[in-house]
Amino acid sequence: MPNNVAASAIEVHPFHDAGSPMTGAERMAANPYRPWPARITSITELTATEKLFEFRLVDECIRNAFHHEPGQFVELSIFGVGEAPISISSSPSKSGFIELCVRRAGRFTEALHKMQCGDIVGIRGPFGRGFPFEKMRGHDILLVAGGLGIAPLRSLINNIHDERSDFGKVTIIYGSKTPQEVMFRNQFEMWRHRKDFDLYLTVDHADETWDGEEGLVTKPFEHLEINPDTTFGALCGPPVMYRFVVQEMRKKGISYDHIYMSFERHMKCGMGKCGHCQIGHQYCCIDGPVFNYWEAKNIQGSM
Ligand SMILES: Cc1cc2nc3c(=O)[nH]c(=O)nc-3n(C[C@H](O)[C@H](O)[C@H](O)COP(=O)(O)OP(=O)(O)OC[C@H]3O[C@@H](n4cnc5c(N)ncnc54)[C@H](O)[C@@H]3O)c2cc1C
Repeated sequence: MPNNVAASAIEVHPFHDAGSPMTGAERMAANPYRPWPARITSITELTATEKLFEFRLVDECIRNAFHHEPGQFVELSIFGVGEAPISISSSPSKSGFIELCVRRAGRFTEALHKMQCGDIVGIRGPFGRGFPFEKMRGHDILLVAGGLGIAPLRSLINNIHDERSDFGKVTIIYGSKTPQEVMFRNQFEMWRHRKDFDLYLTVDHADETWDGEEGLVTKPFEHLEINPDTTFGALCGPPVMYRFVVQEMRKKGISYDHIYMSFERHMKCGMGKCGHCQIGHQYCCIDGPVFNYWEAKNIQGSM
């Protein structure tokens, strides 16, 4: 059955618990394994392999009850294909829709990339522990993203943007392998001219289209001026990046307590039940995916 038929079927036959005396939040909590139907409302091609999808939960009560922290993720399901954890890329300050930035990597993400606006997927969540936004409020922030690591950090960046007066100096470093792999170009292009964001875009291998820095994501640290006493660091990217970025943050004097990072581990349930993402005594899905430096240090192979 094509997905647009599924969409209209959902509208004609509303949920069996519609009219329930429970609030949306109570209905979500009653069965956290239940995927809630969500419609794709916009698709933006970011690069040859990444797309930004906007979803709206079909049930209005559930839609209004959905709140997340920057750095949390959802379990996204495609009927008949499967389910995968995906970081929420939109800011909590914007409600009513959920944005996910997805790289075409295998069977599940291929299927998502073939979907169209109007198609229906399932969403469970939000899950996990995000960045400590309230703790960060009032401080300077240094955000470092590598590649797809921009997906969860974009939620934090946009949240800070929407509450800009509550933060001090905000510095963003975003590294990609090539200019063609830079995501959210329009957004960054706009911010390049703003005085209240210090933005550094780097590519490992530049070409004639690139007028930013060439080098690893750690390169801008050479000329970065930050106040270590008031700065929180947040990072997300490929595993190899963490050790080097943390080293640079330490050289600048940022305290270990103020360094937070988001990890990806293979996971299934999202709720600390199945054990797929267990690392030592921690579950990435509930204790993370965002960890502070001390917690991350105990995660094998991460630092
Ligand atoms: C907390 C969390 C947040 C995530 N956020 C995003 C996101 O915002 N955008 C996005 O595109 N992807 C994200 N992922 C990864 C995403 O879940 C996987 O890419 C997806 O499950 C791949 O499914 P697939 O069937 O398309 O590919 P598969 O055929 O399952 O895998 C394709 C390739 O990707 C690798 N892979 C699969 N799952 C993971 C994983 N969890 N971590 C690292 N490598 C993996 C496989 O080893 C293989 O090399 C996230 C994963 C986690 C755990």
